[in-house]
Amino acid sequence: MRRTYQYRAKISKQTEKNCLEWLELCRTLYNLALEQRISIYRQYGKTISANEQKKQLPELKMAFPEFKTVGSQVLQDVIERVDRAFQGFYVRLNQRNGKAGFPRFKSRNRYDSFTLKQAGWRLEGRYLYVRNLGRFKLFLSRPVEGDIKTVTIRRTSTGKWFASFSCDNVPAREYPATTREVGIDVGIKSFCVDSDGSQINNPEYLKQSLKLLRRRQRSLSRKKKGSNRRNKARLLVTSAHEKIANQRKDFLHKLANYYIQRYQTIYIEDLNIKGMVRNRHLARSISDSSWGMFFNMLSSKAEEAGRTVVKVPPHNTSQICSGCGEKVPKSLSVRVHRCPFCNLVLDRDINASLNILRLGQSLQASTDGIPAVA
Ligand SMILES: [Zn+2]
Repeated sequence: MRRTYQYRAKISKQTEKNCLEWLELCRTLYNLALEQRISIYRQYGKTISANEQKKQLPELKMAFPEFKTVGSQVLQDVIERVDRAFQGFYVRLNQRNGKAGFPRFKSRNRYDSFTLKQAGWRLEGRYLYVRNLGRFKLFLSRPVEGDIKTVTIRRTSTGKWFASFSCDNVPAREYPATTREVGIDVGIKSFCVDSDGSQINNPEYLKQSLKLLRRRQRSLSRKKKGSNRRNKARLLVTSAHEKIANQRKDFLHKLANYYIQRYQTIYIEDLNIKGMVRNRHLARSISDSSWGMFFNMLSSKAEEAGRTVVKVPPHNTSQICSGCGEKVPKSLSVRVHRCPFCNLVLDRDINASLNILRLGQSLQASTDGIPAVA
């Protein structure tokens, strides 16, 4: 199995200076290689290959010795990036009857990473050492597993550094065998509720970060355009966005793991998320709680773990009584399901998650060749 591990990295001022130099050299090489390809293409209607460009690297190092500090594989990777950009150009040419713009040159703030392959680095515990660059102290949330194929160093727009390891042959994680099944209803009040009665709330720290973001956005809107203070305020807004995105991802990862650990089959609604966000009242809570991202994580983790995620059509799951199957109409504001037919009283979302479970199970049964029970 393939997997990429990404970690925040802390580096010294000197290492940061070296990294920025490498980024700038890589960017220069990128633009040089792109320019060469474009001008040859303009002249001959075809251009040179990545391998031919790689063969010119020693010559480049002779002419510009500053490139000697950057690892050979790092420079080769830059050539491969240009190659990928050019492959995209050919695809666009085909799609648009020969009319497509060339790949773009990279401006200073548009070039934010470089990649090492097998050589020039070593990983010791939580420290990554890169030759001619320095030491990276990694915030290892989980250990790297498998064979490391590439190491990418990236700088975010707010000046944080990350190291990511792309690995092959990552051992699949063992999950306890189980036949348990669960239905999950994503909610408005809480993040989700399941048919075993668990209610998962949006984490408090996420709400705090959202408050911080709003405060910083207001502060930004008060600053004069083009001023230094405005630039600083903008950076603060960007970093609040980054923080929220990271916290949310972390929360969703842990929640998806929770379900994958415990259940063999997980039933969820096949939500048309886009269609729902258009509804004004729901917009805020839906985009905040990012169900789409959660469902994607569930599906990919399930695939790795040999579990099953089944999407069921969202058809009256909140209106039907999970006890007797009768339809009990209710508006969005009604939080409790009360059935006049069988007297069942249940939290609205738990009732819905039970319906999702039943509907999913009957769909599964019918696709397995056994007639569905209505
Ligand atoms: Zn009922």
